[in-house]
Amino acid sequence: MTSVDVAVIGGGPAGLLVALGLIKTNPSLRIKVFERAQRYRECGAGISLHVNGLKSIKAICPELYKQFEARTFEFETFDECNQAGEVVTERSSLPAANMQSEQRLQEYGVKPGFMGWSDIQKLFYQALPQDVVQFGHALADIREHAHGVTLSFPGQPGVEASHVIAADGYFSPTREIIMQDGPPAFQNILLWRARMPWQEGLGFPREGRWARSFIGAKTYSNIYTLQNGTVGWVLSVPTAVYEQRGVQFDALAFATSKQRREAASGQDILKSSTEEQHQRALQAAEGLAPQLLTWIKASDPDGVIEHGLFTRPSSLLEPAADKGWGKGRVTFIGDAAHATRPTGLGLNMALEDCPELAWFIQEQGLSADTFRAFEKDRAPRVAQIVRQEEGRGSLAYKDDVKEVSNRNELLPMKPDEFERFKETERAIKI
Ligand SMILES: Cc1cc2nc3c(=O)[nH]c(=O)nc-3n(C[C@H](O)[C@H](O)[C@H](O)COP(=O)(O)OP(=O)(O)OC[C@H]3O[C@@H](n4cnc5c(N)ncnc54)[C@H](O)[C@@H]3O)c2cc1C
Repeated sequence: MTSVDVAVIGGGPAGLLVALGLIKTNPSLRIKVFERAQRYRECGAGISLHVNGLKSIKAICPELYKQFEARTFEFETFDECNQAGEVVTERSSLPAANMQSEQRLQEYGVKPGFMGWSDIQKLFYQALPQDVVQFGHALADIREHAHGVTLSFPGQPGVEASHVIAADGYFSPTREIIMQDGPPAFQNILLWRARMPWQEGLGFPREGRWARSFIGAKTYSNIYTLQNGTVGWVLSVPTAVYEQRGVQFDALAFATSKQRREAASGQDILKSSTEEQHQRALQAAEGLAPQLLTWIKASDPDGVIEHGLFTRPSSLLEPAADKGWGKGRVTFIGDAAHATRPTGLGLNMALEDCPELAWFIQEQGLSADTFRAFEKDRAPRVAQIVRQEEGRGSLAYKDDVKEVSNRNELLPMKPDEFERFKETERAIKI
């Protein structure tokens, strides 16, 4: 039986950064991250890193932040097209075309930009001491007792932890067992994402930093350049549209038993990227912009990630609801705590959790009371962001390109949002 002070469940961005935060602020704690995948692979597509996410990384590890500053980039063009592929808005000529990185750097000391999802995960992983992340550990059961928490991982020795930080994503098995508050709610949207090597003859240049959105027909998709000659695409289709095209998706099974089975069998989540998922993406994209379809067709099926869009409502997080998101010696961070719409703030909010929780543990010690203080302090900000994104997120699925284009103008983060973040930001001592 392995014994640790803190068991972090899930080696996604939130789990890795919180482990780094705890190691930096409380070097005497014994910390392990238990990740169900057998290894990390290049997957996912791209993510916007905003001022709040980057300040959270910098608060925990200024040297690591420097690596992000060197790698994030801004798009030179961000065009919006209709589903015939015709450009409707050339965002290169508008202020919202970029994240005003240089200006933000002057104002806030960090440089926002775009980056591949797996590049973010890789940088966090490399910053941790080698034996912290334990791969092939899919949490199947978790029981709290008087002196700690017992964790079970099929095919692996059990783990005894004094406290647990669950960062196991929006289908968090830990949450299912500890909170018993059911899976997040399906938002009637299916998403596919992939990253692939740039290919000659598919219609976009290898050079330059370009991005293109395809809007209309109640469907929203993007294609853009990423690092090292790769291209990312995201296809996001509402139920009414994909069902019309014959795509079958059982959201409830996806949210509950299927995920639990995978976790219990220790199956690498990435192995669920199959030929079938790729076929479903192609079927769901039928009739959409040909420029996008060619890239989806050319993708390696193994690199395509498919998932439903599930969120937890902001009302659960409002102070009046007084529900909290932790219990006893277990707390939650990232998507496990507050699954929200993918409008660009989900990962950044997950990153915000990390220095906040490290600060509370540094100031108040490791205890259930500290976890409750962290959750109580964090809930109002998280509720406000989740509420804001509930509204903005649903506006992406319209027929009218201009309507969606106007909504894109509103996307985070604007100066008032930076100011609100500053009110809650905590300075940890390293
Ligand atoms: C493979 C993958 C690719 C993604 N790609 C994109 C993308 O391209 N663009 C984008 O905007 N967002 C993407 N996301 C979602 C986005 O990254 C999340 O919203 C954000 O990262 C929140 O971070 P998190 O660490 O809280 O959760 P996640 O990133 O979901 O990480 C959760 C981690 O927990 C692990 N886990 C789950 N169950 C168990 C268990 N039983 N035992 C142990 N470990 C477990 C998972 O394998 C995963 O590594 C992706 C998520 C995943 C998992």
